[in-house]
Amino acid sequence: MRSVDYRDSDRIVTLLTEDFGKISALARGARRSQRRFGGALQPYVLMNALFRPGRGELAHLERVTVDQSFHGILRSLEAIGAAGAALAVIRERVPEHEPEPAVFDSAVRFLDALNRRAPAEESLLSLQIRVLTILGFAPTLDRCVGCGKTPAQGRAAPFDASRGGIVCRACGGGRLILSAAALRRWMVVQSTLELPEEAWPDAERQQIHDALDQLDAQHATVTVRERTGAASGRWEGRIS
Ligand SMILES: [Zn+2]
Repeated sequence: MRSVDYRDSDRIVTLLTEDFGKISALARGARRSQRRFGGALQPYVLMNALFRPGRGELAHLERVTVDQSFHGILRSLEAIGAAGAALAVIRERVPEHEPEPAVFDSAVRFLDALNRRAPAEESLLSLQIRVLTILGFAPTLDRCVGCGKTPAQGRAAPFDASRGGIVCRACGGGRLILSAAALRRWMVVQSTLELPEEAWPDAERQQIHDALDQLDAQHATVTVRERTGAASGRWEGRIS
C-alpha cells in the first residue's frame, strides 16, 4: 500500500495481507539492489510475501514474489487517482495486525476492476462503501437515526454523517440530500461483491461521493480527538 525510503538502502513498506491484516515491514537493501525483491515492491501488485516478526512494530521482509500485477491501472490518470484514494482509505480505516480477509478480497477485486478499465470513480465509491460495511461503519440508510421512521418509497432523505445516517426533517434533517436512486444504489453496492461495470448517473454519483466525504471527515475528527486525548492523558500522568 505504501513504500517510504529508509536509511541509505532500505525501504519501509506497508502491506495489506490476507492473514495478518495491515503490517509495516522493513525491506533491507531494497533501494540498493533489485536482486532480493525484484520489481515486486511496487503498488498495484498482488504478491506472496515472506516476513518474520521484528522487535517492536516493524516486521522484516525476507522475500516477495509477484502473484498478479494490475499495472493496467498505470494507463489512466483517473485509475491511478482512484487507486491512490482507495489505498489511503484502507490504510486509514484498517487497524494494524488485525486480519480483515473481506477487506483484502475487496481490495483485490477493486484493483482487478481498475485494471480491466471499469469506471474508476464508481469503483472507488463502491470500495469505500464495502470497506465501511465490513468494518462496521456503515451508515443507517433504511430508517431515520432519530425516530426510526422509514422514508416513503421513492422519496429522497436528508443525510447527516455526524448522526450516522439519514435523519428525517422532524428529527433535524441534514444538509445533504440523498435521492431515492442514490439510496437504492448504496444498498445494492453494500450487499454485493461485484464492482460496477457501468457509470452511474452524475447526480447519484455526486451524492454518494459527498456522503462518503462527510463520513470520512467525521472519522478523521474522531481519530484526531482520540489521539489528542491519549496524548494529553500521558502528559498529565507525567507531571502529577
Ligand atoms: Zn426521525
